[in-house]
Amino acid sequence: MGARVSDLLAGLAPSATLAVDAKAKALKAAGEPVIGYGAGEPDFPTPQHIVDAAIAACSVPSNHKYSPTAGLQDLREAIAFKTKRDTGLEISPNQVLVTNGGKHAVATTFMTLLDPGDECLIPAPYWTTYPEAVYLAGATPVPVMTSEANGFRVTVEELEKARTPKTKMLVFVSPSNPTGAVSTPEDVIAIGRWAAEHNIWVMCDEIYEHLVYGDAKNVSMPVVAPELGDRWVVVNGVAKTYAMTGWRIGWMIGTPDVMNAAINYQSQTTSNISNISQRAAVAALTGDLSAVFEMRTAFDRRRQNMVKMLNDIDGVSCATPEGAFYCYPNVTGLLGRSINGKVANSSSELAAHLLDDVKVAVVPGEAFGTPGFFRLSYALGDDDLAEGLERFKAWATQG
Ligand code: PMP
Repeated sequence: MGARVSDLLAGLAPSATLAVDAKAKALKAAGEPVIGYGAGEPDFPTPQHIVDAAIAACSVPSNHKYSPTAGLQDLREAIAFKTKRDTGLEISPNQVLVTNGGKHAVATTFMTLLDPGDECLIPAPYWTTYPEAVYLAGATPVPVMTSEANGFRVTVEELEKARTPKTKMLVFVSPSNPTGAVSTPEDVIAIGRWAAEHNIWVMCDEIYEHLVYGDAKNVSMPVVAPELGDRWVVVNGVAKTYAMTGWRIGWMIGTPDVMNAAINYQSQTTSNISNISQRAAVAALTGDLSAVFEMRTAFDRRRQNMVKMLNDIDGVSCATPEGAFYCYPNVTGLLGRSINGKVANSSSELAAHLLDDVKVAVVPGEAFGTPGFFRLSYALGDDDLAEGLERFKAWATQG
């Protein structure tokens, strides 16, 4: 008798970040006082003008119907406009495919460009989805370890060591999830030139583009490294910038031949994305960015508080992240120690104990290819943020 599920899906890991978030939400629903740092999700509601656009769209009959596979023309135009406005990259609306969130754009990119046998370089710590989505496309994910001392910013030297004749693609994400690292413009240029020299395609994940703090500056690789020619894909979405995680709108941008293949794929898998969400996204992208700047100010404050409070815990050390909304502290100082009568020998055991003992949910570094760390999102309210870290500290300090 054959296996009930395919070998491909039997070999697929579940999303650890979604699992932690689901567990925290279930405990909360059961009345437990859980504080969740698991989700990569702004705590703010979607700005009202965006919600209003969706409400209005519900009454327009054309939105009740199938619409073009690649996305509503208005939205593709808004994405082209926004891309030029925010990064300087000039594209035609025809180079845009609207997807069911940024995650879907990532998976579609790998499906479009990778074949079995191809290797895809993924700087580690990496967002937990990248290697699994490469695996689903039949190709081989190759983690490239970055250094904590260099703030987890990937370097050409690290990439070059991992390159083989089979390397087809590089995943480049800045600001990064889970580390919050932002590559310097010089690094982005150098990496783009290196990729161009070796005919390597680059997928640039720009989903956190607006969330950079202090002196950090974000640049788009195809703009600053034009040597890449047409071997790039940009993925992005409204989830993080506009507090729209539940609306599921992302997109993929590339050159026409690549986009034709991706659109063809979407035509056989999802048809079009929800028109109501697409209308909301048009309002988000063409409206002003003031709500975004307000959220960024709040995130910046929370970032600083979190870094300070984490570094106040004996056994934890945390560099200051420059972007996104995550801290990625090293927790190896807490391993092998007796805490509340238990000893954790890995960050994943430690995270399980922290949740069981004091109801604080974090994602262990194992999910991102680097055991010994925790990822904490600071996209939660200031009071919860402080309270959870106080619990963490009191817990870690007891014998
Ligand atoms: N890229 C990165 C680096 C992310 O962290 C996320 C969300 N966790 C996404 C893409 C996708 O976001 P969404 O599917 O919600 O648009």
